[in-house]
Amino acid sequence: MMVDQFETVIGLEVHVELATESKLFCACPNQFGAPPNTQVCPVCLGLPGTLPVVNRRAVEMLVLAGRATGCAIAEFSKFDRKNYFYPDMPKNYQISQYDLPLASGGHIDLEGKRVGITRIHLEEDTGKSTHMGASGRLGGSDFTLVDYNRAGVPLLEIVSEPDMRSPDEAHDYMVALRDILRWIGVSDCKMEQGSLRCDANVSIRPPGSEKLETRTEIKNMNSFKSVRAAIASEVERQTAIRREGGRIIQETRGWDEARGVTISMRSKEEAQDYRYFPDPDLLPLTIPRERIAEVDRSLPELPAARARRYQQSFGLSGGEAGLLVQSLALSEFFEQTLARGADPKAACNWLNNEVARLAGEAGHGVEESKLTPTALAEVIAQVSGGTVSNRGGRTMVEHLFKQGGDPAALVRELGLAQVSDRDGLLVEVRAVIDEQPTAVSEYRSGKEKALNSLVGQVMKRTRGKANPELVKQLLLEALG
Ligand SMILES: [Zn+2]
Repeated sequence: MMVDQFETVIGLEVHVELATESKLFCACPNQFGAPPNTQVCPVCLGLPGTLPVVNRRAVEMLVLAGRATGCAIAEFSKFDRKNYFYPDMPKNYQISQYDLPLASGGHIDLEGKRVGITRIHLEEDTGKSTHMGASGRLGGSDFTLVDYNRAGVPLLEIVSEPDMRSPDEAHDYMVALRDILRWIGVSDCKMEQGSLRCDANVSIRPPGSEKLETRTEIKNMNSFKSVRAAIASEVERQTAIRREGGRIIQETRGWDEARGVTISMRSKEEAQDYRYFPDPDLLPLTIPRERIAEVDRSLPELPAARARRYQQSFGLSGGEAGLLVQSLALSEFFEQTLARGADPKAACNWLNNEVARLAGEAGHGVEESKLTPTALAEVIAQVSGGTVSNRGGRTMVEHLFKQGGDPAALVRELGLAQVSDRDGLLVEVRAVIDEQPTAVSEYRSGKEKALNSLVGQVMKRTRGKANPELVKQLLLEALG
């Protein structure tokens, strides 16, 4: 029977570079962007006679990431050698974990959906090959350069269950995973710098089927947007083949961003091709139960839980709360502003609008700016108390963000105080009534709009500093 509609089945393998000081098995610095081959030593170059020593912090970070995603942590685990030849891997094997990963059986909750996490294991990164020549690919290149700075950098491999059913769900899973990993401080998760990488396993099947069909693995997706686009394009390709009665071949395909299609790279390896065996140079890892309990106690409230709390306690929308929990620093800034007496809704609006705009321009978060929670709380108080206008508040926030300082002094220096002095404003109100007989008679004959134009005239005479509410009130009294 020919089927026209198919269900999409997606599982993701995510690689995350850990933000440790040093590499996984040696003391070389783990730092992005250094000149090529300056962060290497005999261990990470795989020279004969060297021995690896496990980085304790990397193991701790895996346990933290595992517990933050609801995984069980194995008390006994080990490292294995994954054997294959490639010039960017100096030992000709990669130290990884095969049948006894450190963490397994977790999940990530998306809006109305739970995605299972099969396992999280620890492994070392490879070096980086750059193919020189017009194509930028191996085929047709003139020569290839290899940089071993990245060889031996600690990686988490996070494997999901094939639980996602659309490119959007895969995208949302990636975002949620990134938010959690950044939140607990184990990685900066920058896709464009390669500290967060993703391969997608994609297959399609007739609706209602529980069978996992032949899948393809998609690589080279360098942004959250390309994860969505590459999977959508691959689903389209597979659907077209199946509709014509064709078969899907198990293979690895690369995402070609410019052309918007996936391209066959090679037939997919099976696990047995890698001849895994336990690494004889490394002792098994044992993690005492008490240590896992300690990690549990140290886990902060996670972003999804915190966003729910903001919605329930402060009446924020899902979108507003989601923006505040994009980073731990921003969310802490928000809470500290509230602790200084600011109204939650107002603090949220300032942070998600004016402060977010300034942060975008500056290319860093509010925590690296000169603005403090105390100063923001004071600006909010000045605006809600009518001392400065909303526009004046924006001017203050921009100054405080860039230069810092004392908000009260800033109001004086920049002449932002709203004029709320009745007698002074009354003089202006009377002058406007004298100058604008047409608007006055229009208002008296019932044209409500004429009042706004009179308020505007007073604002103009006071160069925008008058308190508009008070001006309106004085005009009404004078025209009464
Ligand atoms: Zn090294």
